[in-house]
Formats: sequence, C-alpha cells, structure tokens
Amino acid sequence: MSIHEHFARDYVGAREKFLEAIGPHSVRLRSVQNPLRGPRGERLFCDVAWHGPADAERVLVTISATHGVEGFCGSGCQTAWFATGAFRELPPGVAQLHLHAVNPHGFAWLRRVNEDNVDLNRNFVTHIGPYPENPGYEKLAPAVAPNEWTTAAQAASKAVMADYTKRFGAAAFQSAVSGGQYTHPDGIFFGGHAPTWSHRIIASAFRDWLARAKHVAIVDFHTELGPRGYGEIIFALPDKHSGFARALDWYGSDLTSTEMGTSTSAPLVGTNGDGFVRFLPGAQLTAVALEYGTLPLDDVLDAVRADNWLHFHGDLASEDSRRIKTQMRDAFAPNDPAWRQSVWTRAEEVLRKTAFGLARS
Ligand SMILES: [Zn+2]
Repeated sequence: MSIHEHFARDYVGAREKFLEAIGPHSVRLRSVQNPLRGPRGERLFCDVAWHGPADAERVLVTISATHGVEGFCGSGCQTAWFATGAFRELPPGVAQLHLHAVNPHGFAWLRRVNEDNVDLNRNFVTHIGPYPENPGYEKLAPAVAPNEWTTAAQAASKAVMADYTKRFGAAAFQSAVSGGQYTHPDGIFFGGHAPTWSHRIIASAFRDWLARAKHVAIVDFHTELGPRGYGEIIFALPDKHSGFARALDWYGSDLTSTEMGTSTSAPLVGTNGDGFVRFLPGAQLTAVALEYGTLPLDDVLDAVRADNWLHFHGDLASEDSRRIKTQMRDAFAPNDPAWRQSVWTRAEEVLRKTAFGLARS
C-alpha cells in the first residue's frame, strides 16, 4: 500500500483509516463525541489512542486537526505510523498517546476553525482577566473579514491590506492578521471567549492519560506555512521554556522559534503549548508544531478569508461554496501524492527523533 492511501478524502474516511490501522494492535481507545454533526449529518469524534505500558514515565504524544482541515495531514501521518509498523520501533519504556481529530468539526466542514469560529491554537489563554490586545487586527478587521465577497469588495480589501503591509511591513501584517485576536468573534484567527470543546478534550485527555508521566513530548501537526512539502519544526511551548534547549538537542538547527523570529509563523498568543504547560505542571515537557508548507501565504490567507465569509454571509449550498471548499483543500490538504510522501517521510523522521530524545531525557 502506498503512503498516499493513508490520507483520506474526508473526515469520516480519515477516522475509518485511523481506527483500522490501530485495530490489530493492543491499543486502548477512548472516543469522545462532539455534540454537533458534519455536513452530511455524520457523527464527529476525537479518538484518543494509547499504546505501550500503562505506567510509562515517558510518553510521545501526537495531535491532529488542531486546525480542523489541517487534520488530513496529521491523520494521514498517525494512520501511516501504525499501518507501516513504524510505531513498534520506539525505545523500551516509551508509550504513545495519539489524539486523532481534536477539532473534528473543522475537519469535517473543511474549516480551520472549530464550531464556534474559534482558532483552537489561540484559545489556550486562561480566559481570566483581560485578553491580549491586537490593535493591528482591529484596524484590518473590515478588510480581512468583509461582509461581501464580490470582485469589487475583494479588490477593496486587497488595497487596504497592501497599504498596511507597505506602511508597517510584511511581518507586522502577518502578526496583526494571524497572531490571534479576541475582539471579533466573526473574524479570522479569533481566540474565543471561553475554553472550547476541543480545548476541554485536550485538557481532559492530558490529565487522564498523562498524570503519571514524568517526560512528555508532543508533536502537533499543521499545514499551510513555508515551502511546499517541507515540514518545519516549530518550538511550541511558551517563550523561555526550559524545553527549548532540549528540543534543540533533539532536532538540531532545524528547530525554529516564533519568539526568536526564526519561524515562518508569526508570534502567537493562547497557543496549545500554553495549555500543555498548565495541564501537566509536574512533567518535563517538550513540544513542537510540525508545520508543512502548501501554497504561498497570500493564497492560504485568501482561502481562510473566503471561508469565513462563506460561513457568516454566504450559502453553503452554492457554487461559491464548492469553489471555496476546493480552495480550502488546496491550501491545507493538497491531494498530491508527492506532497503526501514528503509529509510522511518528514513525520517519520521527526517522530523517531522525538521518541529517541524522550528516551534519553
Ligand atoms: Zn495550523
């Protein structure tokens, strides 16, 4: 079977492939159902799978679909990990925990956000006290998330965004748009005003399965940024976390950091990593986002903006919808065997490095 075949065409297929791949092995599985349904009425689950000694002190964790539609990539890698037998080659004493489709709603609906229009990877602020401010987003909000998606409206938005970039630079633009915002629930990269369902699923999975672990290493799969098919290893814990030196030891100079400005990602607020640190206060933590490039950033942002317009102002049964959902797939889940092959090759390398790093930490 080629690697290509472990990557699914839709959420239901992805779940079937994953469950089939873990089926023959001694995996403890807990499936948690999301209260909502997919576009064809399908039920939605986050599936949590544990393999290895129950009392392991060292645990490798993988997460797919933090950003919904990006789950095609992460799920494909989690499935291939079992289907190819790679999962067996871990050092003794290392257990593994796989969170398949933590945002199944976004996955099924081909959205980056969850059922509340929240970017899960901006939702891990404490939700106590004031939210981080993002004055740049406030300026850009009407342009990045317009009410209309006509040719004229798109051109007007582009002019505003180009002007902002010209005045403040491309990095400031990327940061304003994608760094996270808490003022526009109908906008893009919105962090939410309460812990989302997916946030609570991750918190309870970590507390239930990892309470005894002394060393935990997490690989969270993403797509969209960077050169096509390349998997960037982005440090995913808060700035100055002690895990950085350890991650550098495991991954070498391939490791990047948003805080240090070496990543293709802007610095972010309220990330999964902020949650990991809170949920596992007693464990030695190492966490990275494995971020695969797809299309140029402008095209990815266009897809996200169009999808936001579609769900707030458009018609999901329209021709517009079919076109925009194709844009979303192209931007986050390319149906391209060569891309998938390079995704898996890199994933296998990173997961092995993580497991062996964990074993000697
Ligand atoms: Zn992502």
